[in-house]
Amino acid sequence: MIIILLGAPGSGKGTQAEYICPKYNLFPVSTGDLLRERKKADDDIARNINALMSEGKLIPDDTINLLVSEMLDAKLASSDQRGLLFDGYPRTVEQAKFLNEALKKHNKKIDGALLFQIDENIIVDRITSRRVDRKTGKIYNLKTLPPPAGGDYDLYQREDDTEEVIKKRLAVYKEQTEPLIDFYTKQGVIFNVDAAAERSETEKEVSDILGKF
Ligand code: ADP
Repeated sequence: MIIILLGAPGSGKGTQAEYICPKYNLFPVSTGDLLRERKKADDDIARNINALMSEGKLIPDDTINLLVSEMLDAKLASSDQRGLLFDGYPRTVEQAKFLNEALKKHNKKIDGALLFQIDENIIVDRITSRRVDRKTGKIYNLKTLPPPAGGDYDLYQREDDTEEVIKKRLAVYKEQTEPLIDFYTKQGVIFNVDAAAERSETEKEVSDILGKF
C-alpha cells in the first residue's frame, strides 16, 4: 500500500502519520524529517537547506527528489514488506511526476492521496503551540495534545514554527502544493479528510479510508 498525506503545514499530517504507520504496517517517509537530519552536517548543502527551511521556502526539487529516490531504492530493494506513507512529499507537481516515475520503475503506484482539509486561521494557532520532543521525535501541542503528565520530556519549538514563517509556508503551500489536488484528482486517488475535527475523529476518517485498500 502506498499512501500520500497531502495538506497545508500544520494540518496534522505528521500526527496522523505516527498513528497510521504502526496500525497499517507502513514505513513513514517524511522529507521534513530527512531534511532536519541532513542539515545537521557541516557542509554547503546543509547550510543551504537550513537557510531555505528557516525562511519557510521549499528545497529545490532536484535535491528532494534525489533524497527520496535514494531512500526508495534502498527500501524497495530490501526485504522490508511494509508499504509506504509519504508525509510532506510530494510538494510540487514536479516532485509528484518524479514520484510516479520512480514508483513505476518498481512496479508500484499510489493507492491514495489523503487530503487534509482545514481552515487557515486554525493552522496558525495550531502551529505556534506545536512542540516536538527531542528525545522521541513525538509531536505535541500545548493546547490540544499536551504531553502526558509525569513523563520526562525535552520539548522544543521548531524554528520555522513562528507566526511569520508559517504565513510564508502557507503562501508557498497555496502556490506550489495546492496544484497537486488537481493532479491526484485526475488520477482518481484523492480522499478528503476533515483535519479540523478532533484528532480521534480524524483518525477514524483516515482508518475508514485505509481500511478499504
Ligand atoms: P510542515 O508540513 O509542517 O510544513 P515539514 O517538516 O514537512 O513541515 O517541512 C518543513 C520544511 O522542510 C518545509 O517548509 C520546506 O522548507 C522543507 N521541505 C520538506 N519537504 C519538502 C519537499 N517535499 N520539497 C521541498 N521542501 C521540503
